[in-house]
Amino acid sequence: GKGLAVLTSGGDSQGMNAAVRSVVRMGIYLGCKVYFIREGYQGMVDGGDNIEEANWSSVSSIIHRGGTVIGSARCTDFMKREGRVKAAYNLVTRGITNLVVIGGDGSLTGANLFREEWAGLLDELLENNKITKDQREKYKFLHIAGMVGSIDNDFCGTDMTIGTDSALHRIIGAIDAIVSTAYSHQRTFIMEVMGRQCGYLALVAALAGEADQVFIPEDPVPNNWVEKLCKRLQQERKSGQRLNIIIVAEGAIDREGKPITAELVRKVVVDNLQQDTRITVLGHVQRGGSPSAFDRILGCRMGAEAVMALMEASPDTEPCVVSLDGNQAVRLPLMECVRRTKAVAQAMADKNWDLAVQLRGRS
Ligand code: ADP
Repeated sequence: GKGLAVLTSGGDSQGMNAAVRSVVRMGIYLGCKVYFIREGYQGMVDGGDNIEEANWSSVSSIIHRGGTVIGSARCTDFMKREGRVKAAYNLVTRGITNLVVIGGDGSLTGANLFREEWAGLLDELLENNKITKDQREKYKFLHIAGMVGSIDNDFCGTDMTIGTDSALHRIIGAIDAIVSTAYSHQRTFIMEVMGRQCGYLALVAALAGEADQVFIPEDPVPNNWVEKLCKRLQQERKSGQRLNIIIVAEGAIDREGKPITAELVRKVVVDNLQQDTRITVLGHVQRGGSPSAFDRILGCRMGAEAVMALMEASPDTEPCVVSLDGNQAVRLPLMECVRRTKAVAQAMADKNWDLAVQLRGRS
C-alpha cells in the first residue's frame, strides 16, 4: 500500500486527536501503510522512533482527549534546507509519499515548501548516496494535504478551524461561573480571551455570554471609548443590573494601534465609576480539556477528506487544505488560503481593518 504519514505542528488545539484518528483509520481502510510523526516537523527531521507505524487500535481512546497525543513542536531545523533534506530522507526510506499536516498557516507554508523542493531534495540524497536510483524514481512525487488546527479561527477559507468550538465552550463556561459570583457582590468583571489577531472568540463569546462590552482587534475603539463605556455600564446598573461583563480580546487595540488591555479597562472603570472591578485572564485553559462534539466531528470529517484527497492526487494536483464550507468538508488550494491569511495579517498591520474583515470572509 501507499505510505502515508500524519503530523501535528504549531500550537495545539482540541480536536486534533479526532483528526489524527480519522487520518489513520481512513488510511488503513483504503489500504495505506500509515505512520505517526511525533513532535511535528522535529520528529520528521530527527526520524528514528519519532516515525512509527500506526494501526487501527493505536488511535482508539484518543478522540475525547484535548491537545495532540502525537505531540507538536516548533522546529527551527525544518526552516533550513538541511533539515528538510533529513526529513525527506526519513520519509523516502520508509516509503512515505503522502503527508497530512495539521497545523496553522506557518506549518502549512512549510509543508508547501517541502513539496516544492521534494525533487531537489531527493536529487541531493541520491548524489550523496543516501538513497538509491530506484528509490529516487519510485518516490518522486510527494503529496500533501493540510488541515487547520487552531482555537483562534484565524484561517482564511474555512468557516471553523479545529478547536475553536471547544475553546468557546471553555470561555462560556468561565463567563457563566464568573457571572454567578459577580452577581453576589455587584462586581464588574473584565475577561481577557485568546485569539491573537482575530477577535472571533471574543466576539462570539460576548454574544453567547451576554457581555456588556467587547473589545476586538478588527474594530478598534474610537477616541471617546472611555466615555461611551462608562455611560453604558452606568446605564446597565441604573436599570437594575447587578453586574457587568466586559470581554477583551488579547489583540484588542484603539485606532492608533495601541493595545486595549484588561488592566487599562479596569483602571478606566475604577477611576470613573468606582465599581468593584476584577480581571480574569483565561489563558491556556481555553486550549485545554475535552474537545466538543463539534470539534470531534469536524476533525473526523476533515481527516477522512484529507486522505481521500491524497489518494486521488495526481503529480500535478495542487496541495489542498481541507476546509469547512457551510456544512461541507471541501478542498481548497492550500497556498491561496495561506496567502489570504497572510494578507489579513498585513491588512491588520496596515490598520486597514475593513480589508482584513473582507479578506476573512468567504471568497
Ligand atoms: P503555526 O503552524 O501554528 O502557524 P508556526 O508559524 O510556529 O505555527 O509554524 C510551525 C512550524 O512550521 C515551525 O516551527 C516550522 O518548523 C514550520 N514552518 C513555519 N513556517 C515555515 C517556512 N516558511 N518554511 C519552513 N517551515 C516553516
